[in-house]
Amino acid sequence: MTSLIDRLPRVRGKLLAAEPLAPATWFRVGGPAEVLFLPKDVADLAAFLATLPEDVPVTVLGAGSNVIVRDGGVQGVVVRLTASFGSIAIDANTVRAGAAALDARVSMAAARAGLGGLEFFSGVPGAIGGALRMNAGCYGVETKDVVTRIRALDRRGRSVELTAADMGYGYRSSSAPADLIFVEAMFEARFDEVSAVVQRIDDLKARREASQPIREKTGGSTFANPDPPGAPHQRRAWELIDAAGMRGARRGGAEVSRQHCNFLINTGDATAADLEGLGEDVRAAVMAKSGVDLRWEIKRIGVG
Ligand SMILES: Cc1cc2nc3c(=O)[nH]c(=O)nc-3n(C[C@H](O)[C@H](O)[C@H](O)COP(=O)(O)OP(=O)(O)OC[C@H]3O[C@@H](n4cnc5c(N)ncnc54)[C@H](O)[C@@H]3O)c2cc1C
Repeated sequence: MTSLIDRLPRVRGKLLAAEPLAPATWFRVGGPAEVLFLPKDVADLAAFLATLPEDVPVTVLGAGSNVIVRDGGVQGVVVRLTASFGSIAIDANTVRAGAAALDARVSMAAARAGLGGLEFFSGVPGAIGGALRMNAGCYGVETKDVVTRIRALDRRGRSVELTAADMGYGYRSSSAPADLIFVEAMFEARFDEVSAVVQRIDDLKARREASQPIREKTGGSTFANPDPPGAPHQRRAWELIDAAGMRGARRGGAEVSRQHCNFLINTGDATAADLEGLGEDVRAAVMAKSGVDLRWEIKRIGVG
């Protein structure tokens, strides 16, 4: 039987068969990509998508801070954007960032240029592509509040320009077509004193350090809050999980964080099935206790 890699278009970047994905995610679990594609640049990615057989599924992985890769790995091609997608450029109060740029680097680059408004990015351990897809945010600011334009490629490699309105943003979600691979975005920041912006970033980091298990193998908030920020009587996922008695619950090597009970942790030898199964235990417990059907914020990809 012809293997997938033999059916794929020639590229200038790298195509790797049966490449482990666990090291590319924060949870450090899961099986391999059938083929991992590391495109050299946007043109390489566009040409690849344009001639890729239509039946081959494509999955994008960013910094892997919001995903569980299932134990059977991911069928088809997994795309990981390389360093050439990670540039950051500043023009007046506009910050242009490639989708592989880490959010924290974008935040610091803006700060050094005397631009505020992107401090919240310093608390999100992902890359810009993931932030665009997830509407990442913290402490009251979300990606949707600062992004102005997005450039993407569709499944056929055609360039697509979007505005923030086109992204269909909701709380930690976007209804932009699932096949889009974001390659670059522009953000509007505001002029400010460098020292003031850096101070706010430091404060934010200290706050997170105290409240979240950021040094663990985790995926951040497991479930979206049922109500958006600012809603009257906002129900928070962690409160519902706590009320259901699930703080510290375990399944195999997976644990509900005692520090922040909306975080799942791989304590060392968890499988993806342990983590996902524990997440489902939490959902069932919350449903039984408070009748709320928690929505997974963490993306689960691949086969079990
Ligand atoms: C310790 C910790 C703390 C966290 N705190 C926060 C927080 O405060 N606020 C918050 O919002 N999130 C938080 N997260 C979750 C996570 O960092 C964000 O969701 C982040 O935006 C995910 O980015 P990523 O690059 O890691 O994406 P990944 O986890 O790799 O992928 C997430 C999704 O984005 C898609 N995606 C990634 N790149 C692209 C691209 N270029 N084009 C199209 N789709 C793409 C993937 O296909 C997947 O569906 C936290 C995570 C951790 C581990």
